[in-house]
This record gives sequence, structure tokens and C-alpha cells, in this order.
Amino acid sequence: MAAFIPEEKVAEIREKTDIVEVINDYVQLKKQGRHYLGLCPFHGENTPSFSVSPERQLYHCFGCGAGGNAITFLMEHDGLTFVEAIQSLAAKTGTELPELEDQYPGEREQHQSKKEAHQMAAKFYHHLLMNTEQGKEAYDYLTARGISEEIIEEFQLGYAPERNNMLVQLLEKRDYDLEEMEEAGLIFRQESSWQWNDRFRGRVMFPIHNQRGQVIAFGGRALGEGVPKYLNSPETPIFLKHETLYSFSKARQAIRKQDEAVLFEGYMDVIAAWKAGVKNGVAGLGTAFSKRQAEQIRKATDKAVIAYDGDNAGRSAAWKTGDILEKQDIDVRVALFPAEMDPDDYIQAYGAEAFKVQLSERAVPFMSFKVQELRKNKNLQNEGDRLAYIEEVLRETSVISSAVEREFYMKQLAEEFDLSMDALREEERKVQKKEQQEKAAKAPSSAETGKRWRSGALPKKQVSMRSAYENAERTLLAFMLQNREVAEDVKERIGGEFNIDAHTALAAYLYAYYDDGHEPDVSRFMEYVEEQELVNLVSELMHLDIPAEISDNEMSDYIEQIKIRPKREELLQRQKQLKDAERNGDSETNQRQLLTRIMELMTQLKKN
Ligand SMILES: [Zn+2]
Repeated sequence: MAAFIPEEKVAEIREKTDIVEVINDYVQLKKQGRHYLGLCPFHGENTPSFSVSPERQLYHCFGCGAGGNAITFLMEHDGLTFVEAIQSLAAKTGTELPELEDQYPGEREQHQSKKEAHQMAAKFYHHLLMNTEQGKEAYDYLTARGISEEIIEEFQLGYAPERNNMLVQLLEKRDYDLEEMEEAGLIFRQESSWQWNDRFRGRVMFPIHNQRGQVIAFGGRALGEGVPKYLNSPETPIFLKHETLYSFSKARQAIRKQDEAVLFEGYMDVIAAWKAGVKNGVAGLGTAFSKRQAEQIRKATDKAVIAYDGDNAGRSAAWKTGDILEKQDIDVRVALFPAEMDPDDYIQAYGAEAFKVQLSERAVPFMSFKVQELRKNKNLQNEGDRLAYIEEVLRETSVISSAVEREFYMKQLAEEFDLSMDALREEERKVQKKEQQEKAAKAPSSAETGKRWRSGALPKKQVSMRSAYENAERTLLAFMLQNREVAEDVKERIGGEFNIDAHTALAAYLYAYYDDGHEPDVSRFMEYVEEQELVNLVSELMHLDIPAEISDNEMSDYIEQIKIRPKREELLQRQKQLKDAERNGDSETNQRQLLTRIMELMTQLKKN
């Protein structure tokens, strides 16, 4: 899919573009000293923390950490590809672009025609629904469920007719390769007759879009008694189910603005919620909620409400989804619906306002939801059940990272069963120990943990109170971004030995960037970096006020601070181990070994 634009053209467009003008189309900016300030378009806020620097041609949000240049702004904000962003800026600056050459023409065309065919099929189905006698039953079905024409247009809903091969005929007429259309999931070959058939027949059609808003698949709901009730496109080269969220391209803006996503089980729920004014809703596609889907959500927000069906299957799916979201550092709440209802039913029964309250005030923290679930089918008067319940709750609380929250649930337990907090803490330690033993068998490698931040699980931002080594790393990186010699010097002295994973990754990109023969140019470097989180970091670093030059002494200081950090950590850890060993009466040899290492570390640290 990579169309190729010559580097000189990109440079010319970058040169001609004024970031203030570009962003002004989306955000009202006010000049303040050397910067422009406005309300961040990437997260909801009432006081401006979004800053644009005309000097550096960069933007940075002090609230959510978003950042980049004009090109990355368009990519992030409008979900454009690099090439599309360049095309948009070319149009804006009146730059002529050469005909786009394809780097991989074969691959591009293949996917291109699959997507085009989907787009065409969506229009075809939509036309049948809106304008033909055949589509009337489907139209009436939607109207009966309270779905207006406006909503039908908004979601491009359609109708696939009963007849066997209407889409096949259309594709043939437009010269599409039918084998390829089979691979795209639109049609299939009947085994008995070897005839081409439409995959979707007699169904209300829901186009499924990728992140950029292109149709890549369909969901179809049977009218009447058709089986199965819901049929989705199969997994294809353009439709990877575990990477796709229904309606994400439509909801992304609202998710960012409201700083929260709502997760539904089905597309009808998303549409009904939209109609009720909830526009930050998305849904999975019939497969279990995946880590990749959670990562996509994490890029737009760190809060989510799970609004699944109220039955047992819905609740157990909500638990699994919640676990996956929490692993990506997303703050999860669960909206509870009556057992026999899905969100769509709920809206029909109680109206839009009640539904919104259900999602906001009445949604409970994930942990509370789990506690409720654990109580089910247990008789807490019975001692066995009670003990099992307490252990299960402690198992869940023991992994909560917030001490305040953990304390809260333990207090609840203590009060309910008239237990002392000490007894509960003791019990929690036992549970933790058990878990650790279970985990020890399958411990993740250090390489894996090092990569963890890449998967979107960024550590929560620490706005203030950075420690010395962290500041040292940030300052050095800021210099390295602007000065090739500094970068080379640092590479020689510490290479990738930064203490913060994101810093290591950034340095690696930077070394490679300079090795490729590029000159220092922050804006250009941002396009070189593939991960948005790192682009954000670069823009944050460029908003640090650092002097133009760094002296050798300063540089050595920073490097020392970076180098001694792991030793400091080890020292603290060993000291703690020694204390534990003494308390537990461990063997003399063990204690002596620890002591020796501690002395060693102390000597090394003293030298610095
Ligand atoms: Zn922001």
C-alpha cells in the first residue's frame, strides 16, 4: 500500500507548510509569547494546554502528551496515512505532486480492488434498501426498531437481496476478478454447481470500516428466521477481526473528546447508542475481545465502560474484556443491564436519558463488578463458601496497583465479615505467594517486559517530580535530537543503556536515523519514527527549555547519573533482601553473600 513520494517533494511541502495555519482549521489558537495556545483536540479539556510552536513547527499537549508536526497532526487527527497527509498539505500549499508511483504495485492493487469492491457493494446494498421494493421488508424492520433514515445514512446500512448472485453479476460487469472477490469474502463458489454465489442474501447489511473509514467487511442480520441470525465476513487480508472494532473510525473523535470509550457486544447496540446521543461507542466483531483492540482504544483514551448484555454470557465476556483492558492501563467500569436485556433493548424500554445514566453514574468500577460476580451462587452464611469468597476477592485485590483502592475493598470485606485488617493482609500475602509460585513457572523473559511499553501499555505519565536520572535522560535526548555529535558521543558511552524503555527506543531510532545519513531535523525525524507514543515524547522533549550547547562536564554528569541508577536500585533491593534474610533466619552463607555485594555496590557508588 506504500505509494512513494520523492523525498525532495516531502521536504518542499514541509518547508511551505505553516503548522499554525494547519492546526487553526481544527483548533482555535491564541498567540501567547512565542507559542500559540488552544484547547487540545485529542482530549477533552476546558483550559488550554495545547501548545503550538511556529518556530519549531511542532505541537505538544501538556495535558495528554499528544505531539508532533503538521504531517503527524493530520495523520493522528484525521486518521490519514502519511501519503494522504502529504497530499492534503500539497493541496493546501499549492504544491504539485508527481503521479504517485507504487513501491509494491502488485500488493497495492490487490488490496485496493478488494476495498473498492467493498465500497461498491456497500453502495449497492444501501441503494436497494432505500429505493427498491425488494428492500422494503428490511426498511420496515429497521423503522420498527426505531432506526431513522438519518441513522441509516450515517451508518450506510443496506439490504442484500434474496436472489443468489446479484452482487456477482455487478462485480462481473465491473470487471472484478471473481477469485479475488472470493478471497475478499464477498462471494463464494457453490460446491455442487460450481456457480458463483453472493455470500450475503436476505440480510440487513452493516458495513464494517477500518481505522481510516474504508469499508473492509460486512455484518449481516437475517430477516425473519434466516440462519445464522448474524453473519460476518470471514477473516480476509483486509479484514483482521482481532484488529478491527466496529465503528471505531466514526467514534474516535468522540472517544478522544470525552476521554472515554464505550464497548458494546453488537453493532445494533452501537447504532442504538448513537441514536441516543452516545457517540463514543464501538463493538467487537463476534470474536473475543483482543489485546490489539485494547491497544487501539488506549491510543485514544485511558478510560472505558463495558456495556455488554445483561445475561450470564455477557457478564462473563465483560470480565474477560475488562482484564484485557486493564492490562493496557485502561481504567475500566462496567454498566449493568437487567439479565434479559441488551443495551439496545434497554434504550427501547427506558429511553435515552436512563441509558446515559446507566453508562455514567451507575456504571461500577471493574473491581466492584467482579466482587458482585464472585458473590453469585454462594451462600455466605456457609463457612466454606465464605472462605472461598474471601480468598477469591483477595486474589483480585492483590493485583490492584492503587493502594487506596486495594484498601477500600479490603475494608469492605473486613466490615462485612467482622474481620481484622491484619488478618486480611496476612491472608492476602498468602494468596499473593500462591500466585507468585504459579507464575514463577511461566515467568516472562526480560526482553518481553522491555517491550511492554510498546504494546501501548505506557506507564502513567508523571507530570512532576521526575527523578534525577530521568531528567538526565530527557535532557540528553533533547540535545541528541538537535546535535549529531552529541548523539554519537552518547552512543559510544552508553549505547542503549537508558533506564526508561521509551528512552532506549527513542535513542535506537535516533542512532539509526543518523546512521542513515540524515541531518538533525526534529520534524523530519518524527516522520521517521514509527510509533506515535515516541513522536509524542519527541515533541515533549522539544518543549523543554534547553540551552543551545552542552558542555563536556554537563554531559559527563548526565551520563554518570544514568549509569549509576541500576546500581542504586540494586543496592536498595539487596539491602531489603538482607533485612528479610535476617528476619527469616536464612543461612549464614546467604547473608554473607548479600553483605559482600552490598559493600561492593556502596564502594562503586561512592566513587561517583
Ligand atoms: Zn491533549
